[in-house]
Amino acid sequence: MARQNHNIPETETNSSSALVPILVDPIAMIDEELPTPVEAPIVSSYNDQIRPLLDAIDKLRLLKVMQEGIQLPTIVVVGDQSSGKSSVLESLAGISLPRGQGICTRVPLIMRLQHHSDPLPEFHLEFMGGTVQISEAHISDAINQVTDDIAGSHKGISHTPLTLVVKKNGVPDLTMVDLPGITRVPVHGQPDDIYEQISAIIMEYIRPEESIILNVLSATVDFPTCESIRMSQRVDKTGLRTLAVVTKADKAPEGLLDKVMADDVNIGLGYVCVRNRIGDESYDEARKEEAHLFETHPLLSKIDKSMVGIPVLAKKLVQIQASIIGKCLPEIDKKINDKQAANISELNKMPKNLTSVPEAMSALMQIIGSSVESLRKVLLRGEFEEYPDDKHMHCTARLAEMLNQCAQELQKSSENNYTDNFLMKEIKVLEETRGIGLPNFLPRTAFLMLLQKKVNEISASPVQFLSDIWDYIETVVIAVLMRHSEHYPQLKSSTKRAAQNLIAKRKEMSVDRVVEIIEMEKITDYTCDPEYMTLWGKLMANNNVFLDVMNNNWKSPQITFDGFGDVEVGHLRFFPNIRDQAFDIKMRITAYWKIVLKRLVDCMALHLLFSVKSLVNRDMEMEIVNELMGPHGGGLEQLLEEAPSIVVRREILNKRLKLLKDSKEVVAKVMDIIAINAD
Ligand code: GDP
Ligand code: MG
Repeated sequence: MARQNHNIPETETNSSSALVPILVDPIAMIDEELPTPVEAPIVSSYNDQIRPLLDAIDKLRLLKVMQEGIQLPTIVVVGDQSSGKSSVLESLAGISLPRGQGICTRVPLIMRLQHHSDPLPEFHLEFMGGTVQISEAHISDAINQVTDDIAGSHKGISHTPLTLVVKKNGVPDLTMVDLPGITRVPVHGQPDDIYEQISAIIMEYIRPEESIILNVLSATVDFPTCESIRMSQRVDKTGLRTLAVVTKADKAPEGLLDKVMADDVNIGLGYVCVRNRIGDESYDEARKEEAHLFETHPLLSKIDKSMVGIPVLAKKLVQIQASIIGKCLPEIDKKINDKQAANISELNKMPKNLTSVPEAMSALMQIIGSSVESLRKVLLRGEFEEYPDDKHMHCTARLAEMLNQCAQELQKSSENNYTDNFLMKEIKVLEETRGIGLPNFLPRTAFLMLLQKKVNEISASPVQFLSDIWDYIETVVIAVLMRHSEHYPQLKSSTKRAAQNLIAKRKEMSVDRVVEIIEMEKITDYTCDPEYMTLWGKLMANNNVFLDVMNNNWKSPQITFDGFGDVEVGHLRFFPNIRDQAFDIKMRITAYWKIVLKRLVDCMALHLLFSVKSLVNRDMEMEIVNELMGPHGGGLEQLLEEAPSIVVRREILNKRLKLLKDSKEVVAKVMDIIAINAD
């Protein structure tokens, strides 16, 4: 029997098969007379070489590496409803799958075909961790039943896959996933969003670059209108990983040749036209009919033999599958390594399981020590490398901001009453403090009364400011403590309480302090700052203009004073005896008030920094230890019990590592085989 090369067009896969040196030339294996001895579409020696690759992938699938975000090379069968997906799979496997009106594939069906030498076929279903053996006659029923178990007995669909293993003499070694057919219109009893649900499943399977899309198209439809074509084009724009199978060639032979040659829909891996089993035909009969059809039909026989028939499809798929697996393995190996490294590093970062009180003590001291160090950085030194992007934690900057704002507000609050009813407040106070004595002595009590009034007006805002500052510091301290006791959740409530107690105490002290400062300002008018005299002198320079306007009634009562702006003074013409004293006292208080405000802000700033420093450097450690050992603290012993969340996390990580290690072994073995075959 002479072997003859059919002219299969050079596809992407053909050219890349060099990646998989174990492959024999697939083209040479398409036997001229293949369609006649139907029972063995694939030469079994070929299977032997692909088997280890497929086994490796199947094993990885069983190990659930997909859960680790590692994609496996997969042939995914997509198509519109009733395009013939199940029929194609049946033809490849030579078995009956559920068929019927509307939607019957409602969960992803992973079909694993394995050639075996035993003439008796073997079938089993794997789902949700279990395996059941089934007989050929019951495949359909069993699949339907398990589908009901997974996706409910109504028309719903599910992402949970079901695996059908077919071990049969002569089948190609292939693993494919059959997906629900795409439908726009929900049938009776289906959820309204069935289209979105099905699209989501299909997208999940075809999006990964590692997936080969087997697009099943019915010859009876216009390809560009197929939903499945639109979907695959969305994820595979170039079409390089899409292969088209055109079913029902027998039903619409007219123009089929043109359709596949025109390739309006960008199918990179080529077309294969088939005729599936019809009615009660056996699979043998169906293959004979198919071969006959493409051999003799006046139109269909014109299609190149490398593009027709189930055996051609089987070969193409096996070849593509081997190529994609070979291509993906190094990448999978790398991904497994990366995941392993990430898991190991997370595991190493997890806290040690503490077993004795000294160990617990040292862990506690370490947590406190590192928390205090972090607080020093953010609150005192302005080093933010631990929180580069979290502005809230850039405390030195935030504190300065808050202090500036407070100073500005204080400044503003006194500016408001500079010019309204100019000097009237001063006149009233002077009148009330007048005694029996010479008129040209300024009574000191008048000055103090005015000062007290001004201090009272602003006294609430420094208190509010300090209270806000401590609220802010509390959020920072708690955030830092929570971060450092992350691995010991049992510590969190004690440390949080300690921080809250401490801040509450500090806040109280600050408020006491600032109230004291304010009281001090009220009883004494003193400064050694020469700025006071300078300022007063400057302000008094306005006096000449003032006197001039007061003494000449015809002059405009609008004066622009240095340091005050435009002032209306007409009303003062009625207070000839007292207005000069009032003017003088106003200039004194204005000059002095600047000094008072500066002193207030300076004092608060120094007090605050001092207070924060002693909180961090002195009180924090003591307070946390006291709280932990106190009546509500639960003591050091509680550190010996691992938090359940940590136990669970460690178990998960260990399980993952085991899985990754097993996967790595699987991959290493096949890579070895590939290397040996390459030599
Ligand atoms: P699915 O919904 O895509 O799985 O489509 P099915 O495989 O269930 O097929 C839908 C209908 O098309 C069934 O009645 C099949 O018998 C029929 N069918 C599938 N392939 C062919 C074919 O090549 N020729 C003919 N005449 N009918 C086919
Ligand atoms: Mg189907």
